[in-house]
Amino acid sequence: MLTPNLTVSSEGHLCIGGADTVSLARTYGTPLYVMDENMIRENCRGYARVIAEEYGGRGLICYASKALSCKELYRIVDSEGLGADVISGGEIYTALQAGMPAEKLVMHGNSKSNAELQMAVSNDIGRIVCDNLPELRRLDQIAGEAGKIVNIMLRIKPGIDAHTHDFVKTGQIDSKFGFAIETGEAMQAVQAVGLCKNLRLVGLHCHIGSQILDTEPFAEAARVMIGFMNQIRDALLITLPELNLGGGPGIRYTEEDDPKPFGEIVRAILSALKNVCAELDYPEPFVLFEPGRSIVGGAGLTLYTVMAKKVIPAVRTYVLTDGGMCDNPRYALYRSRYEALIANKADQPRSENVTIGGKCCESGDLIGEDMPLQAAEEDDILAVLATGAYNYSMASNYNRNPRAEIVMVKDGVARTVVKRETYADIIRNDI
Ligand SMILES: *Cc1c(COP(=O)(O)O)cnc(C)c1O
Repeated sequence: MLTPNLTVSSEGHLCIGGADTVSLARTYGTPLYVMDENMIRENCRGYARVIAEEYGGRGLICYASKALSCKELYRIVDSEGLGADVISGGEIYTALQAGMPAEKLVMHGNSKSNAELQMAVSNDIGRIVCDNLPELRRLDQIAGEAGKIVNIMLRIKPGIDAHTHDFVKTGQIDSKFGFAIETGEAMQAVQAVGLCKNLRLVGLHCHIGSQILDTEPFAEAARVMIGFMNQIRDALLITLPELNLGGGPGIRYTEEDDPKPFGEIVRAILSALKNVCAELDYPEPFVLFEPGRSIVGGAGLTLYTVMAKKVIPAVRTYVLTDGGMCDNPRYALYRSRYEALIANKADQPRSENVTIGGKCCESGDLIGEDMPLQAAEEDDILAVLATGAYNYSMASNYNRNPRAEIVMVKDGVARTVVKRETYADIIRNDI
């Protein structure tokens, strides 16, 4: 099995976190997202443990909400002592409504609106990561009008190739995010903050990309960032106390994937960071990490009902479900690979090779191609694994499909944490 929380019952049913997925599909309907709370909590603790063991606890893990944002998830990560990375007014609103402390929120975005900046300032969000000079000027003015001094970080492009999909690479010079070191604009931005009376620069941020499988790009980013902080100290006599190294550790989507466990990645980063600080005689900064996918991705799966199977001789076999790109657009966006199995035949071999199609009016509405699967029949329950990250959060109402429900399983017991949308929800804003 892909993750240790998946088991097969004596009836041959797939179970997650001790709950039978076939009965979950019957009780809650499909499509259905199922999340395993214990695994989410273990992942939160795993991150915190490495910071405690390797770095004396001088850091904060901020869960990257964009992977999956809903009130219950904020409550869970908050109860584990994590902060959160928020990227929009909607994520700030959800986090605050769930009771997350504002000082543990880090706000991102490369095109924040004035309304979003005002919302962040008036709610005293702990750190705002500034992306560009116009934003710095607008934020300085908004902070001044509110009579506040706002803690900011600068988003830096360290110039690292993260060896991942082009759409999720963010650390290289050709990226819409942040200030590049190599062109001098990052140093100019640090100087520009010095002229902003209402902003306090507490540190730097970088995020080199997502679904990164190896330690080296992260360790290299840490070395580059400390090197740049050292240049700032030399040039401007400023020693920045914080470094935020973003998210990005990859997860296992298929049986062939072999990502380095996030614990090993964080260990390697902290070790590189301590070494370069010692070399440069730079004080070790307070660190922030922003993992999203590696906290929730492997903790979730999606259940569908098989509506039909279409065998096109000598071409391919389609297994058609009651969901698709409206609940999981990742294959359409990035050709992302997943493992799937028939939840009510989980003890049988995956003897067929199929294309899983959705219900949307698009030929590109696929969950995957060339996927091994048990012989599927109408009314079977199909499980697509490792869908906890970037599925619900990227879901849409395309074709006016209501967004699916999320249930959280804990020790075999399920509860709804996001209700299924209704048709009334679909027309709520229509005039
Ligand atoms: C997307 C993102 C993250 C989370 O990335 P994961 O790969 O899900 O860990 C963290 N920080 C920033 C700024 C991001 O944009």
